Amino acid sequence: MPESKTKARVGVASRKDAKKWFDGFVQKQRFKWKEFKVKEMQAGVIPLYEPQQKLQQENCYLLGDASGFVKAITLGGIIPGLKQAEILADCITHNKDYEREVKPLKRRMNLHLRLRRIFSKFEDKDWDKLVKILGKPKMQKLFEQHTRENPLPLVVKALFREPRLLYFVKFLV
Ligand SMILES: Cc1cc2nc3c(=O)[nH]c(=O)nc-3n(C[C@H](O)[C@H](O)[C@H](O)COP(=O)(O)OP(=O)(O)OC[C@H]3O[C@@H](n4cnc5c(N)ncnc54)[C@H](O)[C@@H]3O)c2cc1C
Repeated sequence: MPESKTKARVGVASRKDAKKWFDGFVQKQRFKWKEFKVKEMQAGVIPLYEPQQKLQQENCYLLGDASGFVKAITLGGIIPGLKQAEILADCITHNKDYEREVKPLKRRMNLHLRLRRIFSKFEDKDWDKLVKILGKPKMQKLFEQHTRENPLPLVVKALFREPRLLYFVKFLV
């Protein structure tokens, strides 16, 4: 992820041997490390979203990474965790049921999970095809206009704008 013209965040996520994959990735991309200055190294455990995860036991609540609310596509958990915090604060203040109120957010998390399962079936050539299609200016504009937090409107509009995306429907099976 570029942060500026001279600064970028480079990383990988892996079920195991993350350092090995990271070093391999850097070598494969032929980054000229000698010209780079590593400002900071970060590593951390990333939970995986589990739809059956219980979020409440009496007056004890789970949210954020502890509840596995991490978007399965990007592995980002900051916004889902903050949204849960907002919902939970409202539930405690107004005596509402947290598990029920958090359901719409759960549906979004499930959609991310479904998309993730589709992506996991991709071969390199499919990724190349997707990147080529999404690199078109009309698609980039769409991505600028829509949040990725709620992928459904984005996916639907993308399909209408670029019918070639229908090629990927076969991965739904
Ligand atoms: C390298 C890396 C990069 C990431 N980049 C992004 C990104 O770009 N965008 C994004 O959305 N997400 C990103 N994430 C994920 C994001 O950091 C987490 O989803 C988010 O920080 C979760 O927030 P949280 O408050 O639930 O948990 P945490 O941030 O883990 O906070 C939990 C806190 O509880 C403390 N704690 C633990 N046990 C105890 C205890 N027994 N008593 C008291 N305190 C305790 C911990 O020290 C910690 O401070 C990244 C994660 C990693 C590892």
